Amino acid sequence: MKYYSLNNNSKNVGFIEAIERGLAPDRGLYFPSEIPELSNYFVNNIKKYSDHEIAFQVINPFVGNEIPNDVLKGIIKKTLKFNFPIVNISKNIASLELFQGPTLAFKDVGARFMANCLSYANLKEKENKKITVLVATSGDTGGAVANGFYKFKNIDVVILFPKGKVSEIQEYQLTTLGKNITALEVEGSFDDCQNFVKNAFIDPELIKKINLTSANSINVGRWLAQMFYYFIAYRDRPNPDKELIVSVPSGNFGNICAGLVSKKMGLPISHFIASTNSNDTIPRFLNTGIYKPKKSIQTISNAMDVANPSNFLRIQKLFNNDIFGLKKSLTAYSYSDKQTEKAINKIYKLKNYITDPHGAVGYLGLIDFLNSKKEPENYQGLFLETAHPIKFSKTVEKIIKEKIEIPNEIKNMLKRKKKSTPIKDYNDLKSILFSK
Ligand SMILES: *Cc1c(COP(=O)(O)O)cnc(C)c1O
Repeated sequence: MKYYSLNNNSKNVGFIEAIERGLAPDRGLYFPSEIPELSNYFVNNIKKYSDHEIAFQVINPFVGNEIPNDVLKGIIKKTLKFNFPIVNISKNIASLELFQGPTLAFKDVGARFMANCLSYANLKEKENKKITVLVATSGDTGGAVANGFYKFKNIDVVILFPKGKVSEIQEYQLTTLGKNITALEVEGSFDDCQNFVKNAFIDPELIKKINLTSANSINVGRWLAQMFYYFIAYRDRPNPDKELIVSVPSGNFGNICAGLVSKKMGLPISHFIASTNSNDTIPRFLNTGIYKPKKSIQTISNAMDVANPSNFLRIQKLFNNDIFGLKKSLTAYSYSDKQTEKAINKIYKLKNYITDPHGAVGYLGLIDFLNSKKEPENYQGLFLETAHPIKFSKTVEKIIKEKIEIPNEIKNMLKRKKKSTPIKDYNDLKSILFSK
């Protein structure tokens, strides 16, 4: 499989090089030269396959011959060490829990897959190259990437996070690992962090001396591995006789883009819903045909506070930039914090089930879509629960008026010492990178 840049100004690369580069030299996103079609046999007999076998069938054509089959199987085994349970909320609505990984958010899947692929590529090279993974985070990405790369040989991870703007647990996840993980606390916003990272990638002095790569969701390794749980959820879905609808709480639109690729490959999900918070660029675009990002707004579902979602370019490409075609597979809705809070409360009252703010936005989108149908009971809806509610306990506990039980792995983490280095400007970042 070859990957080309959506800016059409770089040479095509293989899977490994696409992961190593992150972005193409022309700053475009990498996109696979074709979307492989799965065999009917696989889809019709998916019940016979384990999680690991499903993941292998799905990702193998995208990797091509760049990673030997047995190595790829090993990488999948290391990636998928946890389950994706489906919890019924009502007769035809269920939550797909993607938060059972080590950092309690769906990003663990992509981060672990990418980390293991990169590590394989690096160990294969003879001269023992050192790689620095640089990543800006608004909360969940940093933790998942840090955990995914923890103690990997010859790979340093440098994470920038905005001071005081990530939740307490998220901060612990970033700052307590140590070893090859360095956390930098930026006096500023997430956008500032991201700008520092962008500057680093175009700084000739830096890139001459340091092998820099990024691990945010535009990286092919993270993006495509997110297909795994759509297939696994299809296998495990309740009411298999009904049409399956999936609602994805969306920020940078990487997760839902992986779902749409799965559908293109032949996975029978009849419709996708992109559920956003007040950052509603895509719902407005699908309504009006005009793409016009506003300044990003801070919300209680902060992992989705993205005004200009990078991966939407990939979604448009997937549908040959035909908005009418796209709308046959995708509907988008936007919800305020007030609506989200109400939904958390409603689901809790209904079923004693605690959702995090992102999952609650997904639930709202699913309900609105089903209510737009003449016979909603003909469909089975799944909303993705993208993070464990404990990660947003301050917000959620206030709404449900209950304490959320802290999972054991988090309890242990809260005993560890936080360590981060404050940085003020780009030059601070640069000197830290040079000292690595
Ligand atoms: C990152 C994140 C999202 C948004 O996912 P995208 O792929 O950026 O659309 C949603 N929920 C949670 C909890 C996240 O961490």
